[in-house]
Amino acid sequence: MTLAQPSHQKAKALRPGARRPAKDLCSECGLCDTYYIHYVKEACAFLNQQFPQLETQTHGRSRDLDSDDDCYFGVHQDMMAARKQQPIEGAQWTGIVSTIAIEMLNRGLVEGVVCVQNTADDRFQPMPVIARTPADILAARVNKPTLSPNLSVLEQIEQSGLKRLLVIGVGCQIQALRAVEDKLGLEQLYVLGTPCVDNVTRAGLQKFLETTSRSPETVVHYEFMQDFRVHFKHEDGSTETVPFFGLNTKELKDVFAPSCMSCFDYVNGLADLVVGYMGAPFGWQWIVVRNDRGQGMLDLVMDQLDVQPVMSQGDRTAAVQQSIPAYDKGVTLPMWAAKLMGVVIEKIGPKGLEYARFSIDSHFTRNYLFTRRNYPEKLAQHVPEFAKRIVSRYKLPPQ
Ligand code: FAD
Ligand code: SF4
Repeated sequence: MTLAQPSHQKAKALRPGARRPAKDLCSECGLCDTYYIHYVKEACAFLNQQFPQLETQTHGRSRDLDSDDDCYFGVHQDMMAARKQQPIEGAQWTGIVSTIAIEMLNRGLVEGVVCVQNTADDRFQPMPVIARTPADILAARVNKPTLSPNLSVLEQIEQSGLKRLLVIGVGCQIQALRAVEDKLGLEQLYVLGTPCVDNVTRAGLQKFLETTSRSPETVVHYEFMQDFRVHFKHEDGSTETVPFFGLNTKELKDVFAPSCMSCFDYVNGLADLVVGYMGAPFGWQWIVVRNDRGQGMLDLVMDQLDVQPVMSQGDRTAAVQQSIPAYDKGVTLPMWAAKLMGVVIEKIGPKGLEYARFSIDSHFTRNYLFTRRNYPEKLAQHVPEFAKRIVSRYKLPPQ
């Protein structure tokens, strides 16, 4: 007797370049490049916001909306600052993400790891793969700061018969993954997430580099850091820093992908374990353990880490409120004011978790205004309750 073919396998993936169901809001997560497009209406992060259901499915509970920490950082059971005692050369930070993935593969917890390498001729062009060796995982280290179709490998997972899998990804990819998790034929899925914000298409990245860096063609790596500057690392090992408040926001007003301008999953609420930097002191990584699976993943590498408790210092609220009119209009502050503001903010400004809250508040208010302006019909359903609570702390310009 032959088993009936699952209905999704009869669906047809969209060809590259074809308009996706989420239209301009598509983040190119890769789901629609596979026959799992069958589930797109329910699964797409931009067509169906369903945090409470997916959090309950993943962590056993949804965010407690009366808890400030839950609203900001998602369901979690632990948080810390950490760094590898021996950093991985060429990783985005100290390489905690790559190290966890390698340990999970080496110890047989998983048979493959979904991660994203770059193409041979472009260091910033993402190429999602299912890594089967530590070398494949290492080849995926460092951010590809562009929209990446990580879920485009989903069909290969079902067809290859893999049963235990780790997926590394950002929020929009993980929301869609969680929605189709039970269709993949897996016995065990682990999810290692990173926070993500202000992503761009490959063409948008070129514009950002050209308007912001003194030498766009030699940039190998960049990060928006807690010292309120963008740090560019160049091929020759030199570092260039540009203050946030000096970014040419008029030129860059439309550079960020519309998906990222309407995203409220900065902290990757559906991953088992999240590794970022923004809640940690400068030079350290920020770890959020969401559930027991995530704790088990972190335990594998604890002996390779220096660890310290998270801290919080300063008051972000005035700085966030002052920036709101600019988010509404895309005004560029002159360079001298940028530097001055940078110094003031550095002296009295938010540190540790308060910096993370600063960044979340700034992005949520900006994204709320973007969604209200461009997709008013989506506002009520698309903005999750925890984000509405955060945004309601600030005075927004009238509609
Ligand atoms: P590494 O060991 O270098 O590994 C990096 C991993 O990221 C690789 O496994 C690779 O598969 C994966 N990856 C690379 N590019 C992408 C992509 N485009 N989509 C999905 N997965 C990818 N952290 C914050 O705290 N605040 C932020 O605002 C923030 N913004 C980010 C924006 C983007 C686009 C990305 C990809 C990450 C962002 N992070 C942010 C996370 C942070 O920059 C580091 O990725 C994280 O701390 C892990 O560092 P690492 O040295 O351990 O990673
Ligand atoms: Fe499809 Fe993903 Fe784009 Fe949504 S974001 S339309 S699921 S490719």
